Amino acid sequence: MGVMRLGYVHTRVTDLTESLHHYHNTLGMQVMAEEPGKAYLKAWDEYDHHSVVLEEGGVGLVKLGYKVERAEDIDQIEIRAQRFGTITERMSKGDNLAVSDGLRIVLPSEHVIELYHDVEQTGTATGTLNPEAWPRDLVGVGVPRVDHALITAEDPETLERFFTEVLDFRASERVVTEQGDDGQLIGSWMFCGNSPHDIAFIKGPNAKLHHFAYSLTDWNEILRAGDLFAMDDVSVDIGPTRHGITRGTTIYFFDPSGNRNEVFAGGYTTFRDFPTITWTADQLAKGIFYIGRELNERFTSVLT
Ligand code: FE
Repeated sequence: MGVMRLGYVHTRVTDLTESLHHYHNTLGMQVMAEEPGKAYLKAWDEYDHHSVVLEEGGVGLVKLGYKVERAEDIDQIEIRAQRFGTITERMSKGDNLAVSDGLRIVLPSEHVIELYHDVEQTGTATGTLNPEAWPRDLVGVGVPRVDHALITAEDPETLERFFTEVLDFRASERVVTEQGDDGQLIGSWMFCGNSPHDIAFIKGPNAKLHHFAYSLTDWNEILRAGDLFAMDDVSVDIGPTRHGITRGTTIYFFDPSGNRNEVFAGGYTTFRDFPTITWTADQLAKGIFYIGRELNERFTSVLT
C-alpha cells in the first residue's frame, strides 16, 4: 500500500535546553535519547521509538520521515521519483537512530523527506495488553501523537503532482485562485491514511516549515492545552478556533525557537474514493479560520 503515515519531524531549534522544556514540560513528550546537540522525543500514544527530533542550530525543518508498509515500496517509489525527475539517495540503517534503511528524496519544494520501512518500536505508555485509557503520569498537555506538517512551496501544483504520482497521496481539500480551468493552486491538503492530511502545503518560499501538529481528542483538550500555554507563557499565534478546511479545531503556537506548532482535534475521516473539496481564494480566510474569517499577518508571514 505504500506510504502509511508521518513518522518523524526533525526540526532545528536555537537552544536545546529551552526547547526540551517546551516539548517535555508543556507538551508532555518523553525524551527517548540524547546526543550532543540533539534529542529524540515521543508522545505517549505512539509505538515508534520517537516522532520528533530536535537539533540545535537554527530553526526550521531538517526533514520529515514517512513510514512505508513494505521494503519493496521503497524500490517502487525510487523508480517513480527518479522518473519524476527528483533527486533521491539511498539511506542506510543507522543514518537515523532506530530507523531502518530507506530512501531520501529532495522534494520539488526543496524539503527533504525520508521513507523507511522499519523503525524500532518501544510501545505506547499504556501498552497493548488490557490498556488503560490514558497514562496517569502525563505531563502538561500530554500530546498523544504527531499528526501532520504544513510546508510552503513556490510551485504547489508540481508538489501536489509529486505526492499524487510518486507517493500515491490524495488531496482531501484544495485552495485555488478561482473555480474552473483557470484556477491556480494555492494550497493542498493531502493524505495517505484516513485523516484529512498527512502533509499539507501552501504557496510560499521553498524549503520552509509553516507548522507541525499534534492530534488531541476533542475541543475540550484544545481548550485545556490553551490554558497550559497561558500557564507556561507559550507564545500563541491564534486560537482556540476551528478550521474550515479539515473542520479540525486548533491552536497555533510557537516553540521557544519560533517554530510554529499546532494542537489539532476533530478532523474528519476520509477515504481514497472521496471527492476532493475545493475552496476558492476569496474564501481562504474562512477555510483557514472558520469562525473569525480573518488571516492574521503572522499566519502568512512567519515561517521557519
Ligand atoms: Fe495543521
